[in-house]
Amino acid sequence: MSEPLHFLAATDVSARLAAGTLTSEQITQAVIDRTRAVEDRVQAFTHRDEADALAQARASDARRSSGASLGPLDGVPVSLKDVLACAGQPLTCGSRMLANFVSPYDSTVVARLRAAGAVLWGRLNMDEFAMGSSTENSAMHPTANPWDLERIPGGSSGGSAAALAAGESILTIGSDTGGSVRQPAALCGVVGLKPTYGRVSRFGLVAYASSLDQVGPMGRSVDDVALLLGAVAGHDERDSTSVDRPVPDYAAAMRENVGPWRVGLPREYFGDGLNPEVRASVERAVAFYREQGCEIVDVSLPNTGYAVATYYIIATAEASSNLARYDGVRYGHRSAKANGAIDLYFQSRAEGFGEEVKRRIILGTYVLSSGYYDAYYLRAQKVRTLIRNDFMRAFERVDFLLTPTSPVPAFKKGERTADPLAMYLADIYTISANLAGLPGLSLPCGFTECGLPIGLQLLGKPFDEPRLLAAARRYEQAHDWHLRRPTL
Ligand code: GLN
Repeated sequence: MSEPLHFLAATDVSARLAAGTLTSEQITQAVIDRTRAVEDRVQAFTHRDEADALAQARASDARRSSGASLGPLDGVPVSLKDVLACAGQPLTCGSRMLANFVSPYDSTVVARLRAAGAVLWGRLNMDEFAMGSSTENSAMHPTANPWDLERIPGGSSGGSAAALAAGESILTIGSDTGGSVRQPAALCGVVGLKPTYGRVSRFGLVAYASSLDQVGPMGRSVDDVALLLGAVAGHDERDSTSVDRPVPDYAAAMRENVGPWRVGLPREYFGDGLNPEVRASVERAVAFYREQGCEIVDVSLPNTGYAVATYYIIATAEASSNLARYDGVRYGHRSAKANGAIDLYFQSRAEGFGEEVKRRIILGTYVLSSGYYDAYYLRAQKVRTLIRNDFMRAFERVDFLLTPTSPVPAFKKGERTADPLAMYLADIYTISANLAGLPGLSLPCGFTECGLPIGLQLLGKPFDEPRLLAAARRYEQAHDWHLRRPTL
């Protein structure tokens, strides 16, 4: 049976567009139709503008027929997490605070996608200001996991992962501060990459924790993720943390990098709390790499146990500062019942922010306050260095690390909402890569007995995305997990 259009890989869409056997209008209409059919159950989007997407598609078709195609992404639908500024479109960040905000400008990632001819299709749901692991913190509505509608899709880029799994888009963009691209990718059975810190511009990405945030490409195959990464990566003078370093041709680099690799298994990532079905799938992936001639090396990252605590000090500290800008004056929600300027700040923030965002602002303000700064924030920064050093030592012996992405498959809606700590532990295997600035990729590596996807994580040296992609691709080509589709 041939795959319906809405489940095509981006590389296939691209090839068919180039061959003239498919138009951008057809593929865009296909994802629109699919979205109409399933979105009442999945609820991956916060906003859709069908007419706008179709107009972009027709413009792409016109360019192509006049011989002026902009390259492999020209005409391919790409959907954006509602945290990336796109001129003229809503930018809610899943928050009441920005419920009526329309972006006046394009983020650099969006500008690059436009320059590549991508059809920008809709805005995707997320945990409020990217704080969460289940998309239940969205002020708009929760998103369902397409594999089991009673379960969460992961977060905070839950809309980006669910839309792909449900066939509502061809490629999506997420953001990853502590795992928000990789964890939902794992829980929805798709591929997600958090690039090296500095690889992709953060200009126009609404800031959560600036020293950890990175934009990440998501797709239904490794090749698709490589294609999208190539389009958005690169230096940007408007983001001082973006690195001026050439962007490889990822598709070519991936094919040249043939291994065999030295694969590290950090023992701290296989301890208590790892779901047995996830463990078994990851162990089968280890066996696969061994059969491919890779050397499997046990390594230790001894400071792993401090990662969650360190992250929740640094991330909340930065968030408390970044979110100070929402004061009811310049952006977003403005309280109607305030009495004077100070009250306006209080009321607007009290009404505009949700519970988890408030919790983080309070925590972040506390760890930065005089008397506690040294005990918490400064110490967390030192531990962050230790965590990074652990990785750098491991990378003297191995080419990349292999771990589970999430300790558990998708959990039920409501299961962890009353327990913030349980929610925070969803990112136990992903946050260290953000603290250390490393690239990390999640790809499907199996299913649980009850049909939930399981994700495998590959962590690499800074700027070693080509090797991660190559190793992931090797696995993907020998397995068909990524080709399974949920029944919706
Ligand atoms: N779940 C983590 C948090 O809530 C990570 C979120 C993210 O990567 N944006 O902070």
